[in-house]
Amino acid sequence: MEENLKEKLFNKKENGWKKLDIQEKDDIFAFSKEYMNFLNNAKTEREAIVEAKKMAEENGFKDISNFQTLNPGDKVYFINREKSMYLAIIGTEKIENGVHIIGSHIDSPRLDLKPNPIYEDGGFAYFKTHYYGGIKKYQWTTIPISIHGVIVKPNGEKVTISIGEDENDPIFTITDLLPHLAQEQMEKKLKNGIDGEDLNLLIGSIPYDVEKESDKVKLNILNILNQKYGITEADFLSSEIELVPAFKARSLGFDSSMVASYGQDDRVCAYTSLAAMMKLENVKSTAVCILSDKEEIGSMGNTGMESHMFDYFISELLNKTGENRPNLLDKVFCYSKMLSSDVDAGFDPIYASVSDKYNSGYLGHGIGLNKYTGARGKSGASDANAEYVAWVRNILEKNNIRYQISELGKVDVGGGGTIAYILANKGVDVIDCGVPVLSMHAPYEVTSKYDIYSAFKAYKAFWNE
Ligand code: MN
Ligand code: MN
Repeated sequence: MEENLKEKLFNKKENGWKKLDIQEKDDIFAFSKEYMNFLNNAKTEREAIVEAKKMAEENGFKDISNFQTLNPGDKVYFINREKSMYLAIIGTEKIENGVHIIGSHIDSPRLDLKPNPIYEDGGFAYFKTHYYGGIKKYQWTTIPISIHGVIVKPNGEKVTISIGEDENDPIFTITDLLPHLAQEQMEKKLKNGIDGEDLNLLIGSIPYDVEKESDKVKLNILNILNQKYGITEADFLSSEIELVPAFKARSLGFDSSMVASYGQDDRVCAYTSLAAMMKLENVKSTAVCILSDKEEIGSMGNTGMESHMFDYFISELLNKTGENRPNLLDKVFCYSKMLSSDVDAGFDPIYASVSDKYNSGYLGHGIGLNKYTGARGKSGASDANAEYVAWVRNILEKNNIRYQISELGKVDVGGGGTIAYILANKGVDVIDCGVPVLSMHAPYEVTSKYDIYSAFKAYKAFWNE
């Protein structure tokens, strides 16, 4: 009988916090603190771009339009309409031999204002909303909500709004029915408990002090907005205003081992990849970081990953490194490798029945890879090739980065997708690779600090390969 045969043959699935040295634990907590700062400053895709641009410029990145030619070591970024961004560090290898891409998204489920949002009813003023992405509507009532976004006037003047984050700001909320009178509501299916049309934000109750007019509360609110921002009701027609939870990111648990925050899907992968890129020097393959928009609603539109903006960016890299020739872009994609860095559903013991415990991502067990996503019989999945999975495993194993390969839930229970298939369809080798999350898409999502730091290390190792 061979001793330690189990040790040799079994794939160990261990909690990463075990046997962790003190230095690494300190690094994990310090990194997570920076991450939480980022979350508090970047609650929307536009705000994430502002933060990412700041980080990039502090680390020597410049707008690609400043470069006539590009050389190895040059650090560039391209911002697309203030809502998505690509960054690159030019490698010593030719771009035509492929680039190393890490792509996340910086939009998160939320409530958007309708084009004609403001109305008055029963002595209150409200904003009407239209939800964005996959939400459980009941989770968005009776929580503090902040208002973020832009209003653009016909003359091009842009007003940027952020109310409800500062301690001295007011917050807003969506009311729900008291249990005493909710008999009928409580009989409804959970998904019908709150109607989309009832997600109306309470924004004021003082009537404007004038005798004759109707809608005096609405008038008073518009007067306040006019004095503060110089806008009228019609200016909402050309605005993008997003309602998000006003909660701050906080350490979670007596041991502070987790992060609770809004918007971790997918800003946890956006931040960790961005932070990893800031630490790179002298890469061999050109390192490319994607922060995309509109993933939560299908990646459509000119700021979503389905648009040709990314092709344009890679073409610009080819043009400015002097490599370009007809159809070279296709070759670049065929030889490129990508981590589609998006969050994974973490195993939740309270809802264990939706998961296959042998194929789940566990909080605290390191970065999670999904070979495929999709629904039912892998429908719509981008299924990573075994050869490529092996290549990625090799990087993680030789750098001692803890990882797990899992599926999103039990067979036929549900499913999901990321931007992986979009790049895979261009010819890139892609695997989904991100941080496991509890309560995904809820106003307050939970991650493990261990996994956050594992993601940072994994992304850095991938680019340094
Ligand atoms: Mn996501
Ligand atoms: Mn999502």
